[in-house]
Amino acid sequence: MKIAVIGSGITGLSTAYYLQKNTGAEVEILEKGSEIGGLAGAFKLGDTLVEKYYHFIYTHDNYYLELIRELGLEESILWCSSKTGYYSDGVVYPFTTALDLLKFKPLSFFNRIRLGLSGVLISYYKNLDKLEQMTTEEFLVKFVGRQGWEKFWKPMLIVKFGDNYNKIPAVWIWERIASRFKSRSGGVNNEVFGYLKGSFQTLNQKLLDTFIQRGGKILLNSDVKEIVIENNAMKGVLVSNEVKKYDYVFFTASLPLFVDLCKNAPYEYIENMKKVKYDCVLIGFLVLKKELSDIYWLNVSDSECPFGGIIEHTNLVPKKLYDGRSIVYLSKYLNPDHPLYKMETGEIRELYFRHLKRILPQFNEDMVEDFYVFRNRYGQPIWPMGYSKFKPSYKTPVQGLYMANTSQIYPNDRGMNFCIKLAIDAIDTFKKEEGIK
Ligand SMILES: Cc1cc2nc3c(=O)[nH]c(=O)nc-3n(C[C@H](O)[C@H](O)[C@H](O)COP(=O)(O)OP(=O)(O)OC[C@H]3O[C@@H](n4cnc5c(N)ncnc54)[C@H](O)[C@@H]3O)c2cc1C
Repeated sequence: MKIAVIGSGITGLSTAYYLQKNTGAEVEILEKGSEIGGLAGAFKLGDTLVEKYYHFIYTHDNYYLELIRELGLEESILWCSSKTGYYSDGVVYPFTTALDLLKFKPLSFFNRIRLGLSGVLISYYKNLDKLEQMTTEEFLVKFVGRQGWEKFWKPMLIVKFGDNYNKIPAVWIWERIASRFKSRSGGVNNEVFGYLKGSFQTLNQKLLDTFIQRGGKILLNSDVKEIVIENNAMKGVLVSNEVKKYDYVFFTASLPLFVDLCKNAPYEYIENMKKVKYDCVLIGFLVLKKELSDIYWLNVSDSECPFGGIIEHTNLVPKKLYDGRSIVYLSKYLNPDHPLYKMETGEIRELYFRHLKRILPQFNEDMVEDFYVFRNRYGQPIWPMGYSKFKPSYKTPVQGLYMANTSQIYPNDRGMNFCIKLAIDAIDTFKKEEGIK
């Protein structure tokens, strides 16, 4: 049995790994780019690797942690506590402890208490069907009030979903808040985040190496142009003007790419998928000679500012991992037609530095050793209301074609942990459907 896996992000790599392990199939990964890892990939900074997009894991990311153990990487994991902050009305407020919340002046005292209690109340909320028909805004306003929404939640959702912030089904935020509480088993002050020494690419690479040692194959620079479908059956994949034949294909890249590749899939099936949109992600990546602040994650609530988050990675993990340099991500999710997404690196640098200086006046250009811009068209799925009714299943209506991608991680957030769960679940379905022991 020969199987192709399209994509070598964490979903593709784990799909290939578990397919090989759990079915004994001959598995080949087809990757468009020249490197593995996708959104969870890394690049070389001096002697070390670092993510293009900031990443950490939670203590309850059990699928990810299990894979770390299975691949013998436990020694490489760092658990770190960190400080968060909130920039609002021109002031940086610390926002890590319950006391910080009580001192958060953009909210009235009553609304600070209300915001503090809302997490517990939301995590006990049970009517999830109702949440699928309600926006995150409608839901949160009930718990935190209008001011709590405007001054606290709305800016954070803009950071995450750009202009689509008010279109997200409430079940998503419910899931985020409920699972976040699990990460804070010791109370609000004790949240810790995990990081892999040498970047999360360490795990991606170990997955690939193990897969190759066991006989798997990867074809880099293999841009799949079409999944050939005839009479509702998968006949192969078109790569480099050649149709390569497989018994089964697993597609793991973003849903709109699936729509593009499957020109002959059933019309109604494809039309439903077109309802799922994706935001782009744009990151300004700074290498600094010294630290910018003591905050790891600073949410920026400022309508003028072109980025919504300042994430100082080296306030989560030690600077010595990067020869004493500080690493800062300036984060923004946006629509593909947003002018910022198409700007040249030089223009973004000028714009971002101006606003960074305004928000954190201690910043100056002399601190900057390097500046990079990373962008990806498919940064974040935007699910429509009532999505669970037509969320695509792993088995497609096309015989021989399976799908596992971030659009199916719903209502959970599309973190790496759930990408691995997705791979495991898709393979379980595959084995059942195809009668494989
Ligand atoms: C800014 C940012 C921060 C994040 N932070 C975290 C975090 O802290 N913790 C966490 O767990 N998760 C985080 N995530 C989420 C996580 O990175 C992604 O959900 C995950 O990496 C998605 O993996 P994937 O394999 O499904 O997709 P992708 O990473 O998008 O991989 C898809 C792969 O398919 C390939 N491909 C596309 N088209 C074709 C084609 N036609 N032929 C062949 N190959 C193709 C692509 O080149 C790519 O390699 C973050 C994401 C972003 C954007």
